[in-house]
Amino acid sequence: MLYYKTQEEIELIRESSLLVSKTLAEVAKHIRVGITTLYLDKLAEEFIRDHGGVPAFLDYNGFPNSLCVSVNSQVVHGIPNDAELKDGDICSVDCGVLKNGFYGDSAFTFPIGEVKNETLRLLEITKESLYKGIEKAVAGSRLGDVSAAIQQHAESNGYSVVRELVGHGIGRNLHEKPEVPNYGKRGSGMVLKEGLVIAIEPMINLGGKAVIHEHDGWTVRTADNKPSAHFEHTVAIRKNKADILSTFDYIEEALKENKIKVIN
Ligand code: MG
Ligand code: MG
Repeated sequence: MLYYKTQEEIELIRESSLLVSKTLAEVAKHIRVGITTLYLDKLAEEFIRDHGGVPAFLDYNGFPNSLCVSVNSQVVHGIPNDAELKDGDICSVDCGVLKNGFYGDSAFTFPIGEVKNETLRLLEITKESLYKGIEKAVAGSRLGDVSAAIQQHAESNGYSVVRELVGHGIGRNLHEKPEVPNYGKRGSGMVLKEGLVIAIEPMINLGGKAVIHEHDGWTVRTADNKPSAHFEHTVAIRKNKADILSTFDYIEEALKENKIKVIN
């Protein structure tokens, strides 16, 4: 079942998505060497509740926290814990919010302290891949055009695309149809129509594409233990240009204040 949203519904998803973006900006203000990911999780939960939202991931299929925090070779679905972030780490923070009956979902990967250039480049290309996909997320395109654009950009830069995890439709449910893979063939898949709202979220690996599931039942990490990056926006399909409902602007402003290099 595909749910096409009215403009009013899209505005509500925007409100939830912007709360996610502002929550990630709160994370950006505090993230640094020596902080624990559990601290960031508590900060995010409080911020979401203070702004009339409910953390979407908390208790989702039993997930124990409000943020998914995935460090270095962890790809996604990392569980916040009391380990401190270290100089040179990268840290993907994924956040979802439910407000007024609608979900928003966005993720950003942060460099911690002095990160190796090859890893910073992985972040840059992963973020670019997300926007390459968004460029194709317009009415009349096919889903495979979005997927292929992401894959092409990541692979042409020497990286690999995780296959096991995909983006998704979003609205009254955190995960709706369609699945939005980060790999695929141009001209394949369903035709995108106005009113479809999807979360596009490339997960790109520095090394090979294979991933393994850790014993905690959640964390996905790279099989070769090399770093992985993850960026995500919630977007509404429009005629000529996708309407990006989440934003990285607040995060990037906060990073500048926090003196963290902004990845372009
Ligand atoms: Mg997410
Ligand atoms: Mg998502």
